[in-house]
Amino acid sequence: MDEAKAAADKVAAGGDPDDGAHVWRKLKNQLAVLLHDKCWFCETVITRSDNAVDHFRPKNRVSDAANPHTGYRWLAFDRSNFRYSCTFCNSLRKGGGTKGGKADRFPLLDESCRLYAPGALDQETPTLLDPCDINDWELLGCKQENGEPCPATQDSMDKLRAKTSIEIYHLDHEPTCKQRHTAAVDLIANVEQGKRLFLLSQTNAVFKREWKAVAKKIKRAIDRHSPYSGEMIFLLRGMRDSAHPWIQALLEG
Ligand SMILES: [Zn+2]
Repeated sequence: MDEAKAAADKVAAGGDPDDGAHVWRKLKNQLAVLLHDKCWFCETVITRSDNAVDHFRPKNRVSDAANPHTGYRWLAFDRSNFRYSCTFCNSLRKGGGTKGGKADRFPLLDESCRLYAPGALDQETPTLLDPCDINDWELLGCKQENGEPCPATQDSMDKLRAKTSIEIYHLDHEPTCKQRHTAAVDLIANVEQGKRLFLLSQTNAVFKREWKAVAKKIKRAIDRHSPYSGEMIFLLRGMRDSAHPWIQALLEG
């Protein structure tokens, strides 16, 4: 971390944050293993990327700021500002029937609280959902019929945050929706099979082992290391059933 300190000092003296890119590139692999190579924003497994570290608070410029903003340069080498990200979430792209990517976006719910120099970060309330926040992920779900992302909340402010995040993180990118949909189809099939086997196992112990095997698959789908686990939890919550207390137990376990 001496390198991070040296790079931060250079930026404080007017240097370009990108000159210290080796600092976050070195951390890339450590960030990747935390969630088994999943992008922290869209939960897609990243197979290849040479630009996989996103600065949650942009380091060069902030296009949402009311006044000219040269970026949260003082956080360029602060690992708490790093998010492991695929290029679809991280980089701006337009065309080909799709649009999205975070780039230099960082809207706040209250722009008047924007920091332009080092200060208490908690004075800002980011509009974007933060994968490092303990609760934010619960505000996103997906439609089981097509895998499109959707807000998982009725609160109007949270809804705005979810919708903005879907747009800026490009979570509605069609190939991602397709993969999410595949995961949803598998989950639904497993839950239906699990329900059937659970009922059978009530009268015939032979089915218990099969039911347990299916429950294990569902458990894996909602494990935080699995692709789209946040959305799978959202869908599984919707499939809770008083005749099947094991579903709730899986969600709690
Ligand atoms: Zn992503």
